[in-house]
Amino acid sequence: MQLSWDVDLRPLNTLRVPARAWGMARVEHWYHLESVLQHPEVQNRPLLALGGGSNVLFRRDFPGLILRIENQGIQILEEEEDHLFVRVAAGESWHDLVQWSVRRGFWGIENLAFIPGLTGAAPIQNIGAYGTELSECLESVQAFDRQQARWRTLSREQCRLAYRSSRFRDDEPDRFLIAEIVLRLSRRGLPRTDYPGISQTLADMDVTDPGPVEMAECITRLRKAKLPDPLVVPNVGSFFKNPIVDRDQAERLQTSHPRLPVFDTGSQAKLSAGWMIEQCGWKDFAEGDAAVSSRHALVLVNRGTATGQQIWDLALRIEASVFEKFGVRLEPEPQVY
Ligand code: FAD
Ligand code: NAP
Repeated sequence: MQLSWDVDLRPLNTLRVPARAWGMARVEHWYHLESVLQHPEVQNRPLLALGGGSNVLFRRDFPGLILRIENQGIQILEEEEDHLFVRVAAGESWHDLVQWSVRRGFWGIENLAFIPGLTGAAPIQNIGAYGTELSECLESVQAFDRQQARWRTLSREQCRLAYRSSRFRDDEPDRFLIAEIVLRLSRRGLPRTDYPGISQTLADMDVTDPGPVEMAECITRLRKAKLPDPLVVPNVGSFFKNPIVDRDQAERLQTSHPRLPVFDTGSQAKLSAGWMIEQCGWKDFAEGDAAVSSRHALVLVNRGTATGQQIWDLALRIEASVFEKFGVRLEPEPQVY
């Protein structure tokens, strides 16, 4: 365990906004966690678990302790004919885990390739992409419950995973520190190719019968082509969630905006936030160094020296204009501090 004080958070968030934290503890082994939490100076301070910093926005300095989760390990727990259970430490890189899985021929997380960040953060917003969500293969989460001061194993149901949401993110944000997750992966699977660009990219790769490796490669290529690389143009991916609305509201909106993309989610409908933002004229807009990506209207970027507050001000203006034009409230996807 390493403790440091007055920590520069700029290199630790992918929007590269400036902020400082009172302190930081880097935890490689979970048995160190309880001693960090019991440290007298730490006890009365706010605490923030930080992974890769690819889904956070710091509007100001953080007055408490940043907990960097750095434990490692991927272990097959149990193998059955069709599927297997894998335990993964929170500090493992998510994309490295996807590579580990597809190279062994396992299905389940191939469409979640190339999502930045660490495994411990994956349940927080139930990461999702290209028609797959973590909830489909998450078996359980091992976490320290700060309210009850004990370790707990939470089943998938107890995690309350939903579209870009979970109990950890939306109901009890400061309660659990995730140490490990268990995934159920499959030996057999079918490629999911219905999202735009997948079939064409597979054809460009000359692949007709994709396995998990080819699917992960296809998704990686698509993402590299469509999204700004945070190492070059700092960003946190989609800044807003796609709004989920009642079917009636979606139908009314489609009457007035016939080209609005609407996707069926069962009893409700999902609207394309990116399309609405683009219709409001925000794509490639910049105010100082806080900007909307020229590649993707859902992605806010820092062109150099933008502060977290400037990015947030821009987000609020976008949200207000989408509400004015469409009557729909956008919700930010990253956690804002
Ligand atoms: P952080 O940003 O460090 O943390 C995010 C939140 O999780 C914070 O509230 C933090 O406190 C909490 N947290 C982190 N670790 C723990 C822990 N161990 N215990 C308790 N709480 C914890 N997301 C998607 O869902 N789908 C995508 O396709 C996608 N694409 C992206 C593309 C780009 C270019 C970028 C920059 C981001 C993208 N994201 C996407 C968002 C982001 O990568 C994911 O949400 C990712 O899971 C965040 O991981 P992280 O380690 O960076 O989390
Ligand atoms: P896209 O494929 O151009 O699609 C645009 C939007 O339409 C997406 O938001 C997607 O919703 C929705 N969509 C498209 N086809 C769909 C289908 N068959 N069924 C249901 N919804 C459909 O989107 P993109 O921006 O290039 O992103 C591709 C995927 O990567 C998406 O799943 C997206 O969520 C994910 N991604 C996420 C982030 C992030 O930070 N969260 C960043 C980049 C990409 P969904 O977003 O609900 O899938």
